[in-house]
Amino acid sequence: MKQSAVRRMTKQRVIVLNTVKSLGSHPTAYEIFERVRQELPGISLSTVYRNLSILVGQGDILTVRGLGQEVHYDHNLHEHCHVQCRICGKVSDIHTDFIDPSCVNSHGGEGYIVEDVLITLIGICPECANRTKEEDTNA
Ligand SMILES: [Zn+2]
Ligand SMILES: [Zn+2]
Repeated sequence: MKQSAVRRMTKQRVIVLNTVKSLGSHPTAYEIFERVRQELPGISLSTVYRNLSILVGQGDILTVRGLGQEVHYDHNLHEHCHVQCRICGKVSDIHTDFIDPSCVNSHGGEGYIVEDVLITLIGICPECANRTKEEDTNA
């Protein structure tokens, strides 16, 4: 009998998944690759990409949409939105409690049934804001 129904988790894939979790803040494939390489020196970037796409397909991780050119990966599977720093690119999770999807019907989306909320707020993170302040003072 074939075990095709059983989810196969190779050692590589487990390490890739754990790396996404340990990196925490929405790493890109390259950031994941750099970290995985410390544990599996022979691994290639394309192998990391392949494992990431399988993990996404299995629902173990998500890709974050709307963050520019590069794909970021997210191990937080709960419904949430993101805020991204336009200077360093850092991405943080924000809760969606303040969004009421039903308000779409009274704000220009009459008749729509909302199924998903994908919101990315762009701004400056506290670290970059502090750095900018310091630079201003030093100038
Ligand atoms: Zn920043
Ligand atoms: Zn997230």
